Amino acid sequence: MIERVLVTGGAGYIGSHIAVTLLRAGMEVIIVDNLSNASELVLDRIEAITGRKPLFYKADCRDKQALQGIFNTHHVNAVIHLAGYKAVGESCEMPLMYYRNNLEATLVLLEVMRDFGVDKLVFSSSATVYGDNVSMPVREQAPTSVTNPYGRTKLMIEDILRDVVEARPEALKVALLRYFNPAGADESGLIGEDPKATPNNLMPYVSQVAIGKRQKLSVFGGDYPTEDGTGVRDYIHVADLASGHLEALRWLDEVVDLHCCQPINLGTGVGYSVLEVVSAFEQVSGRQVTYEIVDRRAGDVAVSYADVTLASELLGWQAEKTLEDMVSDAWRWQQRNPDGYGRS
Ligand code: NAD
Ligand code: UDP
Repeated sequence: MIERVLVTGGAGYIGSHIAVTLLRAGMEVIIVDNLSNASELVLDRIEAITGRKPLFYKADCRDKQALQGIFNTHHVNAVIHLAGYKAVGESCEMPLMYYRNNLEATLVLLEVMRDFGVDKLVFSSSATVYGDNVSMPVREQAPTSVTNPYGRTKLMIEDILRDVVEARPEALKVALLRYFNPAGADESGLIGEDPKATPNNLMPYVSQVAIGKRQKLSVFGGDYPTEDGTGVRDYIHVADLASGHLEALRWLDEVVDLHCCQPINLGTGVGYSVLEVVSAFEQVSGRQVTYEIVDRRAGDVAVSYADVTLASELLGWQAEKTLEDMVSDAWRWQQRNPDGYGRS
């Protein structure tokens, strides 16, 4: 039985919601995060939501000694590995920084897991590994390809994990969770996405326009072959995403197949256009979201949404929350924390 889970990058946006879900399920959570893109305040918020505080180590996953110390102190049953850099544009400007951080953090973690006999790993992969040459909805068997260094780190890590499992199938089981577009926040409004600079992602950008922090949204492309010409994505509530991790842990605990390194899509299976998101935000917030249609963003695909059959079959999991839930929870978080964790 899984009692104690180490969550790398657990102070971040998705990790903090996972911590809440695992704590609520009665598990002990150990967060390892170097706080390069997170605030320690999140720990008090997680405690306020769940009544329990996760253990926290401010450490870099590339620091082998630090990880060894943590694995020595705690008997870890499984790891959820989220630590890494995630901004596509930045990865094009600073590819070495991305390869160094995302790959090295994973390699060091895998060595320490091996040395301590920890045999269950859930990895944060991304729908970005499907590239732009696949038909929708996309299944896990679809060919993979990437268009930027960030995406390439995800694909490389998937390959590395496959090799490691292949070499010693009895020593490691892996779930490669391919997230579609995480959005929203915990319904308490206490934790949520806190972009340090200008948001790259649609939801936090729209949210900042609605609250008046930014003047207008640039809609990247109005001439895609979609109903209203704007890009379509599969937005998934971060709380649903978090429960997908809990189910993946339970599945890994029971699966008997050797050679287990299984990609699984986590999405809703439904796509919404940029303008549908804007309109949902306007309805929920009662504010106008000014926008302007500009050129397409390089590297964007027209449409992306998941085939979620496998997640349902293997994990017995499916997303439950709607676009309106995502938008109203994101809006609650934004209103209560106009400056994120910074000056709330
Ligand atoms: P995030 O930046 O909020 O969380 C990542 C956390 O990792 C941060 O708290 C950061 O401080 C920490 N970190 C980075 N490098 C580290 C290192 N070397 N050692 C220790 N901690 C380190 O991002 P998120 O949105 O919560 O994403 C979590 C994971 O999910 C990432 O791996 C990301 O690539 C992946 N993912 C995110 C999305 C998305 O849209 N948010 C989509 C697909 C996949
Ligand atoms: N988008 C946009 N303006 C923005 C940010 C995003 O029009 O400021 C569009 C983007 O082109 C895509 C969708 O919103 O169609 C989701 O983009 P996001 O960056 O959130 O996620 P991605 O799918 O690119 O990972």
